[in-house]
Amino acid sequence: MPHPDTWMEVRPEGLYCAPGDFYVDPIRPVPRAIITHAHSDHARPGHSAVLASPETMALMDVRMGDGRAGVSQQILQYGEQIGLSGVDIWLEPAGHVLGSAQVAMTWRGSRVVVSGDYKRQRDPTCRPFEPIPCDVFVTEATFALPVFLHPPAEEEVAKLLASVALFPERSHVVGAYALGKTQRVIKLLRLAGWDRPIYLHGANANLCAAYQRMGIDLGELLPATVAAKDKLAGAIVFAPPSAVVDRWARRLADPVVCYASGWMRVRQRAKTKGVELPLVISDHSDWAELNQTLDDVGAPEVWVTHGREEALIHEAAKRGIKGRALRLLGYEEDEGEAQAGAEA
Ligand SMILES: [Zn+2]
Ligand SMILES: [Zn+2]
Repeated sequence: MPHPDTWMEVRPEGLYCAPGDFYVDPIRPVPRAIITHAHSDHARPGHSAVLASPETMALMDVRMGDGRAGVSQQILQYGEQIGLSGVDIWLEPAGHVLGSAQVAMTWRGSRVVVSGDYKRQRDPTCRPFEPIPCDVFVTEATFALPVFLHPPAEEEVAKLLASVALFPERSHVVGAYALGKTQRVIKLLRLAGWDRPIYLHGANANLCAAYQRMGIDLGELLPATVAAKDKLAGAIVFAPPSAVVDRWARRLADPVVCYASGWMRVRQRAKTKGVELPLVISDHSDWAELNQTLDDVGAPEVWVTHGREEALIHEAAKRGIKGRALRLLGYEEDEGEAQAGAEA
């Protein structure tokens, strides 16, 4: 059985499968790309041929414009298998955002799973992560330090609702990444019984509409731009993280600035951003989830794409798992913090 490092390569464009002649989440346009999910650091425009889940393809159309992800586009349902020059390929849910997928590849009996971004916490807007046994598991390590433990998102949403009850005359503006986080927090608010209209900054609206078209019911959503200021008193408003700290948010009625991010675990980050109500909600795995996942997939070897790879590799080694840092460039070390401006 060939070792995965004989057939998977790190190239400047990204992670490359040599026998199949394709890349996974390349950072530059390539002849053939498989895309794990529609976040802009993983899904870039201009490939010749692109393969992704139907939801990821639809979300790429919304983000980039119709057809810009690739000249030829192929969708693959979860669990459906295809062969490319002797490499068997299929997608399994990653639990990160709607349509997010792990890419499983088997060549001559040797299996690599590229997880993209993933989490293990329940998310009512996407299918849960499925562990796939493999020889090499490729993971990110954004929150790979013991300090990063994300509380249940439901508890954080309860904090938000408690604040709304406490300050009924103020508007609560929630900074949340436009793809995934916004829809997840809205859905959690609905499940917690918040049935009033929720207001959206323009940057968060298109992707919410796309989620609704794909069957994720988010309830009544209204644009925050045209709503009269007095209507926003007592309302919950979603905006990109970059907008909650600038002039845009100040137009709202005495806003309580909230920010939903795994980084809110770090008090200093919340403070410097002027966040009054930090919500520790992440679509990435925390330290416990990362380690649990390594145990669940049972791979003898883990390759870490980016993040705090040293801590994770060190911890994995204690359980006999061999680690390798790929140091792939071009992925955000954050949940879209840097991209928020571009998406706004
Ligand atoms: Zn992502
Ligand atoms: Zn990412």
